[in-house]
This record gives sequence, structure tokens and C-alpha cells, in this order.
Amino acid sequence: MNISCSGEGKVLIIPQSGAAVLGGSWSSEKGCVKESLYLEWQEGKVRVLRPLKKEEKNWKSSQELFSWENYILMPGFIDTHVHLALDSVDFTSCLERWSDNLVMEIEIRKHLQQYLEYGIVAIRDGGDLPGYGWLAREHINEGQWCGPFVISVREAVAKKGMYGRFLGRGFLNLDQWLMEKEEFFRQGTDQLKVIVTGIISFKEYGKVGPVQWSEEELREIVDSAHELGKTVMAHASGEEGIRRAIGAGVDSIEHGYYITSEQLAQLKEKGIAWVPTVAPIGNILKYPSERYSSLEIENLNKILRGHLASICEAYELGVKLGIGTDAGAYLVPHGKSFWDELEWMREGGIPQEEILRMATRENAQLCGLTDFGKLEIGTPLMNLQLADFSGDWFQEEKDK
Ligand SMILES: [Zn+2]
Repeated sequence: MNISCSGEGKVLIIPQSGAAVLGGSWSSEKGCVKESLYLEWQEGKVRVLRPLKKEEKNWKSSQELFSWENYILMPGFIDTHVHLALDSVDFTSCLERWSDNLVMEIEIRKHLQQYLEYGIVAIRDGGDLPGYGWLAREHINEGQWCGPFVISVREAVAKKGMYGRFLGRGFLNLDQWLMEKEEFFRQGTDQLKVIVTGIISFKEYGKVGPVQWSEEELREIVDSAHELGKTVMAHASGEEGIRRAIGAGVDSIEHGYYITSEQLAQLKEKGIAWVPTVAPIGNILKYPSERYSSLEIENLNKILRGHLASICEAYELGVKLGIGTDAGAYLVPHGKSFWDELEWMREGGIPQEEILRMATRENAQLCGLTDFGKLEIGTPLMNLQLADFSGDWFQEEKDK
């Protein structure tokens, strides 16, 4: 078996049962504890985790113990919005490779490895037309591929001819959805993703691709998933699209650019989560390229500032915030971009302890994962990570 070691950017192979000395631990309940800890695991699960006794300090080297003093043991991260089948480099050429299963298999297995190297032990895949995200889920569950636990929507529900042709087959109208939904669910899906709007324009501030469904239609789609006990994630930006998604009773708003204060209050009231995916816009500014015009960069800056302000507002209101990257999008690489997203949340003014809590416990809840996002007796080691003891996420918070 293995454990994700984000502290070194690698995956460690470990025996099913064993013991180690650690530099400390972090959990949402106790926060960061920096003291030498003794960890023992059996059949892949935590059995003992306690402070190292004085008399034990010397037998560290003599015993068959892993020396993990440079690491903090903590729950692995969960990325709540990724697209395994996209490469974050070139959308068009990536889609051309989709017809080549062998090439895609190599590529996706590389993405999966990257997640583990960066401490991400579970991901929620937001879909792709050929179903590569779902394929990864199956192979991992069957133990054929190594990677994080995958929750997959398989393919998204979009209106045919509108945004999202690469995310799903597309439905002409509600009638077609109602006719085909049984078959759609029968092919397998963990959650449902509905495309409510197009994407935001970089060229024109405030502009968003058209809304695809009426509120009533959306409600029908949402209900068909809820009847089967499946959570609904809604890709929505812009005031009108977000309004309809909230009205239709979705479980989370994904992206949500241009969300209003009033809508944030509604999310709080209805217990709807928000996954603001800052990286797809923020990373374009963080890692400059020649791809965008100065006008676009100016607009992106404006969008980013507004978005970060809304995130801060949402946090203060007590809205459920999920941390998801939209990995696979341009400049949002699988694995690494999760740390960018953490930085963006910090940039938005959320205390770092809270961000770590969202990245673990809250995200686990959002994805319906019971064995993830926590560190306790019985937790599988594969769901944990060894983080960098000296990393700035585990230092005392600077006075602001
Ligand atoms: Zn998506």
C-alpha cells in the first residue's frame, strides 16, 4: 500500500502494518500539534497515535520504525472539482487525443499520480464526454490503477448545441432528458452535474454564456437526481444562472463568478455549498503567458478581485465553501493547482486553519465521503498525507 507524502512530493510505499515516529499532526479538531508522535497502523488503518514517551526517544533508530520526523500527519486533501480527461495545457489538442484510449490511459494515470504526490487523496470529477473520469474511478476501485479515490459524475447534463459539448452528450430539451434519464443513470454516476450557464467572457466584463434551462426545467433535472439520492453540482456563473440554480434546489454552485451578496445569503439559508474555483482565472494572472490581451488581463483582474471579495463575504456569512480547482483547465494542473487554490482562499482573507478544514473535513462532507478528511483511530493511512513540517501552512498565523 502507499501513503501520499506532499512534504516531499512523492508517494511512499509502506507495508500493510507498521510504525513510525512523526514530527506532529494536524486535524480539524485539534489543529496543528508539533510534538514527536508515535504512530502504529495495522492492516492499513491507524491503530495508535500518541505522544512519543521520553524513554522511547532513543529507540527511534534501533527499532523498525519509519522516521517521519520531518512530516506532519494529517488528512489528505480532497479536490472537489477536476476534469481528469483535460490536460491544463491545450484544450483542442487534448480533445483530439480522446479518441486514442491508450494515450489517454497513460495521461490520466499520470494525472492520478500527481494528485497523490501533492497530498490529494480524493477527487470529484466533473465529467467528460467519453467518460474517462468514470473509467479512472472503476480502475482505481478495482485496484488496477493507483490514484486518489474518485467520485465521478461521468458526463454532465447540458443543453445540446450550447456550452458543454465536451462534458456530455447534450439534451435537446427537457423532454429528451426525461425520456433518456433512466438510461443515463443506469450507465453509472456518483453525482449529477448540470450545466446551467456558459462560461464567463474574458473580453467583456460581466458577460456570461447563455443560461441553458429555465428554473422549472432545472428543478426537474435536480429532482430526478435527488430521487435516486444523488447530489447535484451546478456549473453556473452570472446572476441569472445562479438565481435559477438556487431556485431549483441544487446542492452546490460550481464557479459562481459574479455571485451577488443576496445570493450568498440564500446559499447560507438553504445550505447550498459554493465551490468558487479561483485557479482558472487566478492562475492566468499568477503565471503570465502571451495568450491573453491586455484588455483580457485587465478584466480578469477585475473579476478576480470581485470573486475574492465574494469568497470572503461568503466565509463571514457562514456559507459552506468547498475547495475545488477545475483542474484540467488552462494553467490549472492536476494536483499542483490545489495548492494554488489554497493560496487563493488565503488571498481572499480566510484564516489558514479554516482553509485546511475546508480542504479536508468540509470537502469530504461535500463529496459524501465518510472515511476522508479526518485523522482518528481507524482512519485508513491511504486517506492521510505526510505534509511538510516546516511548510508555511503549519506556522503560526502572521498578525494581520
Ligand atoms: Zn467542471
